[in-house]
Amino acid sequence: MKTLPHVIIVGAGFGGLEVAKRLAKAPVQITLIDKNNYHLFQPLLYQVAIAGLLPSQIAYPLRTIFRRQENLNFQMGEVTQVNFGAKYVKLNGSVIAYDILVLAMGGQTNFFGMDSLEQHSHQMKDIESAIKTRNHLLKMFERASQEVDIKKRRALLTFVVVGGGPTGVETAGALAELINLVMAKDYPRLNLDDVRVILLEATDHLMGSYPDGLRKSTFDLLRQKKVEILLNTTVKNFNGRKVTLGDGNHIEAHTVIWNAGVRASELADTIDVEKGNRNRIIVEPTLQLPRYPDVFVIGDAAYLEDADSQPLPLLATVAQQQARHVAMNIRHMLHNNPLKEFKYKDPGLLATVGRNAAVARIWGISFSGLLAWLIWVALHIYRLIGFRNRLVVMLNWAWDYFFYDSQVRLITKD
Ligand SMILES: Cc1cc2nc3c(=O)[nH]c(=O)nc-3n(C[C@H](O)[C@H](O)[C@H](O)COP(=O)(O)OP(=O)(O)OC[C@H]3O[C@@H](n4cnc5c(N)ncnc54)[C@H](O)[C@@H]3O)c2cc1C
Repeated sequence: MKTLPHVIIVGAGFGGLEVAKRLAKAPVQITLIDKNNYHLFQPLLYQVAIAGLLPSQIAYPLRTIFRRQENLNFQMGEVTQVNFGAKYVKLNGSVIAYDILVLAMGGQTNFFGMDSLEQHSHQMKDIESAIKTRNHLLKMFERASQEVDIKKRRALLTFVVVGGGPTGVETAGALAELINLVMAKDYPRLNLDDVRVILLEATDHLMGSYPDGLRKSTFDLLRQKKVEILLNTTVKNFNGRKVTLGDGNHIEAHTVIWNAGVRASELADTIDVEKGNRNRIIVEPTLQLPRYPDVFVIGDAAYLEDADSQPLPLLATVAQQQARHVAMNIRHMLHNNPLKEFKYKDPGLLATVGRNAAVARIWGISFSGLLAWLIWVALHIYRLIGFRNRLVVMLNWAWDYFFYDSQVRLITKD
């Protein structure tokens, strides 16, 4: 019997998951590898961090997703090495050979070599870091409620979010709402004037990739939610008590949430091929690795420029479109047909700033406010995997909306 070509997919995030699904009917045997046993919907991680959703509501077990896909075998574990010459990956100490390899291992937080920030600040990259952030935020309120020294109390209640891109903006807006709408009720003796949410951005505008009008709307919406915005401001150091800014000024704060950068994942660091900015692996327009045509790289791990010579953004939409393209190119490869070049189709922009507040550019039209927010809510519920998760998140958000509450404010072990 003829053996089918073996496709290994490393990473079951937005890119890897889509490639695997698209190859369901292809004449290949697939091994899908991920260090976690679930697919994570990263765009809602910040909701876990601000105690709005439970981790299980934004993650879904991979074995359940692929239960019925006969040509796929899932293996949980971390790929630690890839050998393109001998065509194998190393997983949990063993070697697995491939005919075609798809690298979709995503990115990691970029601290730009600032060790103090890496050590003391909070990030949102996985479930563990989001839970750690949630516990920390809630603990700050508990500690502040017992602190009599006003200076110390204010430092406990100062929350600095670094990075004015969509994730930083969403985090700052949601945090301000958690404090003003929910924590204010839980801690009636705390003076809300002691609380500060500060958003720091290195450039002179928020939401770098958005049109000017939406940047301005984002700025105004955040200000309405009582977020202090410091533009043209960089962070140099954070020791867990004090943030040192690029101009030498200080902010007394126990919390920094770092949303200022992403780079390709640890595995990309170990692979000795040509890299673009953020250590992303440079790929051909067909998404193949130069010199290794049987290897494809997609998503946050891949570096490819658009028609204006700009690197493609690190977005789920890019990873998913590239995944569909790679699945198509693998089919072409199997039939000895020429491979096609990838072109990213920008589906628009959408980010929320909190309750009734979002900014959007859809079909070239920019708008903000309630309509954008309703579209954001509907789209995020729709994009979650699993009917149960969709239903639970929808009910959860409806409850929060009508009762000005947030479901999960438990301090647990990190
Ligand atoms: C907090 C946050 C908010 C975001 N919000 C948005 C948004 O609103 N809209 C949007 O379009 N994008 C958003 N993004 C970006 C989006 O999540 C990424 O661009 C997208 O996940 C990239 O897809 P990927 O498949 O390349 O990687 P990922 O989805 O990150 O998947 C990589 C997978 O590889 C696995 N993995 C990594 N290394 C290994 C290894 N060595 N061995 C085995 N498995 C490994 C990981 O466990 C993970 O499951 C957000 C990102 C974050 C962190």
